[in-house]
Amino acid sequence: MKLFTQDFDPATEPRCAVTPDTARKLLSLGLEVSVAPDTGKASNHPDTQFTDAGATIASDPAQALSSADIVAAVDKPSLETVSRLKPGSWFLGMIDPFNRQDLIRAFAEAKINAVSLEMIPRTTLAQKMDVLSSQANLAGYEAVIEAAKISRKLLPMMMTPAGTISPSRVFVIGVGVAGLQAIATAKRLGARVEAFDTRPVVEEQVKSLGAKFIKIDLGEMGQTDQGYAKELTPEQLEKQRQAQGEICARSDIVVTTAKLFGRPAPKLILPDVVAKMQPGSVIVDLAAETGGNVAWTDNEAELKAAGEVVVTDNGVTILRYAKFENLVSTHASQVYATNIYNFIEHFWDKENQTLKLNLEDEILKGCLLTKDGQIIHDKFKQA
Ligand code: NAD
Repeated sequence: MKLFTQDFDPATEPRCAVTPDTARKLLSLGLEVSVAPDTGKASNHPDTQFTDAGATIASDPAQALSSADIVAAVDKPSLETVSRLKPGSWFLGMIDPFNRQDLIRAFAEAKINAVSLEMIPRTTLAQKMDVLSSQANLAGYEAVIEAAKISRKLLPMMMTPAGTISPSRVFVIGVGVAGLQAIATAKRLGARVEAFDTRPVVEEQVKSLGAKFIKIDLGEMGQTDQGYAKELTPEQLEKQRQAQGEICARSDIVVTTAKLFGRPAPKLILPDVVAKMQPGSVIVDLAAETGGNVAWTDNEAELKAAGEVVVTDNGVTILRYAKFENLVSTHASQVYATNIYNFIEHFWDKENQTLKLNLEDEILKGCLLTKDGQIIHDKFKQA
């Protein structure tokens, strides 16, 4: 089988779906691996590293794309690109299925086995292929590092002959994969860390990292069978905002990571709270890509048009990069490409040198969107 990889959006996507290391492993499964020129450049993998690993740099990427049995990607292809894929071939990537139903239909029409890696079930067995976790983990780390760079304060306590410097206060809202790593990173740097999540099961994890869990009684909360947070009622959301406002106001760094799977993120910090924060404090909004957890103005148009870095009139910096993991693209590529390799290896039929299309498999059922010209995923059949 032939595997091909390329950046579909080289202007904004620094990560790559195959690294020289995973190319070597894919070759040893028996796959032919070809890579479009410069695919690994922005993650510090020049073409020579791929050729040293035994992969081919495609001299005609368009032809390599159309003849590939598996296309591995990070970002989404255009509709036109989908129409050039080989019928019966596999596409593995982050397809953003909740927002790109047009793309799902295009995959079905082109008779592609389209795998949305974001839809891989959050189970122990599938953890090695879980791209949401592998990327969120790095984003959580990078959120704290970026905030620390901008904050004019130290994170650790420091005893100096000129007096004691107090540790920075960090407040993490939303303690999933990214939030846990943000807590761990801030603790390693010596900050005083507090955290809150609507899923009560998280309290123990927060405490085990040495941080303080903020208890807010919101009544009935909980999580879905996949472990995702349930959406709060408007009353619960208001209660949460009231309870955490004072904590935000006294924090030097606030990291918000609260997402709702497949839906816009809840607005957890409103302009009144931003206005109470101290000059120089930093908010990192890890949910910016799905609408953001933070609103520093009531002006909807201003919120929509805002860039990646906002500095408010009272001197609060809000970081809103869509993908913090892209700031550490070498390691983000390493773990993403390993997720893809693990997926292929898991479904690889050694004897017949092909991917097994086993629709009884729970992992495949969770992430395969289209097959034989049909949309087969339960969540997107109506697309
Ligand atoms: P996510 O990115 O969907 O959300 C981030 C966090 O925000 C979650 O912890 C969520 O509870 C929280 N949140 C949502 N609304 C909130 C609000 N109003 N206030 C405060 N917090 C709020 O989460 P994720 O990191 O993708 O993790 C989702 C689930 O999957 C978790 O239960 C996690 O433990 C689980 N998980 C399991 C595995 C595995 O078993 N293999 C791997 C990764 C994640």
